[in-house]
Amino acid sequence: MGPKLPDGLARWVLEHLPYPFIGSTIVPLGVDLGECHDRHRNQVDAGSLLQELPPPSDDLLKMALVGADLFYSVMTYVFGLTELGGRRGVLSCYRLRDELGTRPEILLQRTLVETVHELGHSLGLVHCVVGECPMHRTLWAEGIDTKKETYCPSCLATLVKNGH
Ligand SMILES: [Zn+2]
Ligand SMILES: [Zn+2]
Repeated sequence: MGPKLPDGLARWVLEHLPYPFIGSTIVPLGVDLGECHDRHRNQVDAGSLLQELPPPSDDLLKMALVGADLFYSVMTYVFGLTELGGRRGVLSCYRLRDELGTRPEILLQRTLVETVHELGHSLGLVHCVVGECPMHRTLWAEGIDTKKETYCPSCLATLVKNGH
C-alpha cells in the first residue's frame, strides 16, 4: 500500500522527541492500510486511517507513522491528520524527503518536527504564528526546515495551562 516506512525512522524520531515528551514505545500499526487505500488515487485516506487507529491507553498519545502518501477530504495530500486534543494522529513521511532524496538527515529532522506538530494537536494545540515553532503551519516540505522541534514559549505555556 504505497512506499514503506524507511528503516529506523520511527525509532530515531522517538529518541529525539523534545520536552515535554517522556518515554515512548513503538507498537505495530494495528490497522490494515489496504482498507484505507484509495486505488484510483493510489493514496491512503488519512481520515479512515485515523478512525481505524486503536486509541491509546490512558495518559498516552499515539501517532501512526506511515510511508504511504496521505490525502484527506478535498486536499490533494496532507502530511498528517490529528484529532484536536484526541491524543491520536497519523503522519506520513512520504512528502518529507528532500528534493533529490539524497539527504536522509533532512527526512529525519522533518519527520521529527511534523511528529511534534501532530502530537501538539493531539494535546489540543492549534497552529502558531511563531515561524520557528513546530506548531507553525507549513504546506510545503521545504517550509519545515525553518522550524525547530521544540515548542515556542507560548505553546509550552498553553500545554502547561491545559495540565500537560
Ligand atoms: Zn497542523
Ligand atoms: Zn508556538
